[in-house]
Amino acid sequence: MKECYYYSIGSGSSGNCGLYVCGNTAVLIDLGVSVRRLTAALRRRGLEIDSLAGVLITHEHQDHIKGLATYVKKHRAPLYASRGAAEAIVRKVPAAAELLHPFWGGETFTLGGLQIESFLTPHDSPESVGYLIRGGGEVFGYATDLGFMPAAIRSRLIGCGTVVLESNHDLTMLETGPYPYILKQRVGGPRGHLSNVDCAACAAALVRSGTKTLILAHLSEENNTPALARQETERAIAGLGRCKVFVAPKDEMDEPVWLSEEGQCSLFA
Ligand SMILES: [Zn+2]
Ligand SMILES: [Zn+2]
Repeated sequence: MKECYYYSIGSGSSGNCGLYVCGNTAVLIDLGVSVRRLTAALRRRGLEIDSLAGVLITHEHQDHIKGLATYVKKHRAPLYASRGAAEAIVRKVPAAAELLHPFWGGETFTLGGLQIESFLTPHDSPESVGYLIRGGGEVFGYATDLGFMPAAIRSRLIGCGTVVLESNHDLTMLETGPYPYILKQRVGGPRGHLSNVDCAACAAALVRSGTKTLILAHLSEENNTPALARQETERAIAGLGRCKVFVAPKDEMDEPVWLSEEGQCSLFA
């Protein structure tokens, strides 16, 4: 059985980047940190940028592609983005065009022996997506930057052993916080970001269906705290099944999260 792990290199509005490794295949999800930070983080895991099989991009917002302009100058590992996201990325970083492999949002493709399924997310960015990765044992799900959790996405995530799930803001902190009205409307709107309470409701459905590991991600620095995000989800999943909850820090994780080697999630009664 292959050893697989997820290691968050950056999470939140200041920059998102995650590393998924299964056996000899390593892929990034988003490149929202500087290449210098990425290089240092990968080296701590014994990897080099040029050993990546590819970079899966969720969408073209700056906090997901910040490192791209520097990356495309020196590195050749292919970039994967939906057609809509790819067009928007090329407008911002023209040199990315030669490395981009556009796909239709919702399409499934293979990358270095991994099966990658994309799904469309409700977000204010063209053809933004989340991903499911099948690499070895369990299925790994990645869903951030969604204004709400559509039933269709929740059912895609059901059956994943490990899920990275957005827990962006606490509703009261957003409401009473320093953001201007228009930004509050955007973040809390149906094409903005997922609140702690919506994350927790989805987490409960996932844990009931056998998800064993949750990694809460894309926390707002202004409108959330790691303790509040964790509390909301832990309260919702209490008693539903065994599940470990991690909160992805703004910067790199201390340790990778190892994915279970069991192929299928067991269903909890
Ligand atoms: Zn976004
Ligand atoms: Zn984002």
